[in-house]
Amino acid sequence: MAGPGPEQTGGINPPLPVQLRRLADGRRVGFMPTARAETLNHFTIEIDDVFLSRERQRARELRGSQWWKRQLARGRCHYCGRSFSPEALTMDHIVPLARGGKSTKGNVVPACKACNNKKKYMLPIEWEEYLQSLTENGIE
Ligand SMILES: [Zn+2]
Repeated sequence: MAGPGPEQTGGINPPLPVQLRRLADGRRVGFMPTARAETLNHFTIEIDDVFLSRERQRARELRGSQWWKRQLARGRCHYCGRSFSPEALTMDHIVPLARGGKSTKGNVVPACKACNNKKKYMLPIEWEEYLQSLTENGIE
């Protein structure tokens, strides 16, 4: 008999009630609604690492899924809408992991390398302007 297949990722660990924010100095800090910020300085960094490594692992699992292969097979960048070969598309988190986004089907999309790089290096406001310019230029 074949094995049970990929491990189920949902439902085992409830999501942490943590929102990640990036401070001006580049540190990421999690905020929990029930705790005082000053008691969390140490703790939040650990949460950050746990959160990121878990979500990165989930992204790896999603990349191996049939669902993701179907997304790639469509051959379309989610952002600029241009056509690409599946190999030219990468997995992008709409809300980046560093901002508390998760590796869920609702938050990952195929993106071409150009869009992916732009998103990585642009400030959120610049990225919004880029998306806006795509719409204005009539690219769906
Ligand atoms: Zn693109």
